[in-house]
Amino acid sequence: MQTTTMGLVLRATKTGEADRVLSILTPTGIVSAMAKGSLRLKNKLHSATGLFCYSEFTLFEGRTMYVVDEAEVREVFWGVHEDVVNMALAMYCAEFISTLSPTGDEAAAQLRLLLNCLYYLSEKRRTADFIKPVYELRTLTQAGFLPGLVACTDCVKYEGGPFFFDAATGLLYCADCAAKRGFSANLDAAALAAMRHITYSEDEKLFGFSIAQNSLFRLGTVVEQYVHYCVDKPFKTLEFYHSVLGQGRADLEGDPCNPNT
Ligand SMILES: [Zn+2]
Repeated sequence: MQTTTMGLVLRATKTGEADRVLSILTPTGIVSAMAKGSLRLKNKLHSATGLFCYSEFTLFEGRTMYVVDEAEVREVFWGVHEDVVNMALAMYCAEFISTLSPTGDEAAAQLRLLLNCLYYLSEKRRTADFIKPVYELRTLTQAGFLPGLVACTDCVKYEGGPFFFDAATGLLYCADCAAKRGFSANLDAAALAAMRHITYSEDEKLFGFSIAQNSLFRLGTVVEQYVHYCVDKPFKTLEFYHSVLGQGRADLEGDPCNPNT
């Protein structure tokens, strides 16, 4: 049986002499497909079956997986490939969504979200440390892990002062109520506003906010904790992302042990 679908290549693994096994996020779910000979530069499948290519695929049902018959590239996201931090984040996003393995309508929403994130990264319209919590939190929300961010769980306070987001339960507490439970606040007002925006905003407005770097750092830390509790699995690509991000920062700031750099 033959089928035609749009899809984003989440993983392209070399096999045999010049073949690639692809993991493709389509609007109905993730499929595996063999792209025979696609590593050869002159092969007709070469340009549309690379990592993070968004392409139109014509697939045949093979014995164990689909076989790519034709592929026409629509978007390559060069700006992701040109930057090691962006690439590391994209690889983490790909592993993250592969783990959640969405199906049906959710797959279509998750595909749109990931394409938008890759676009913002590729066009350098947002930095990786901005895109990462947006992607993680919105993906979890779309997957059904909706955090309760409307107000403090104990006293219904909804603004003013710092708050505590309990990543283990997905619930919010004001600083006073958190203290009674033995927790300290982990969100300032801007980080909480960003969490609410990412969780509740319409698709078109998702990326339309700005946030100061220190609040972004708090947001990133809390959202990553939430990921940890929702998806109980260590991500190798997340470790890699943090290692290249740390390296990038060290390059930027110079070597603190050597004031001449
Ligand atoms: Zn409270």
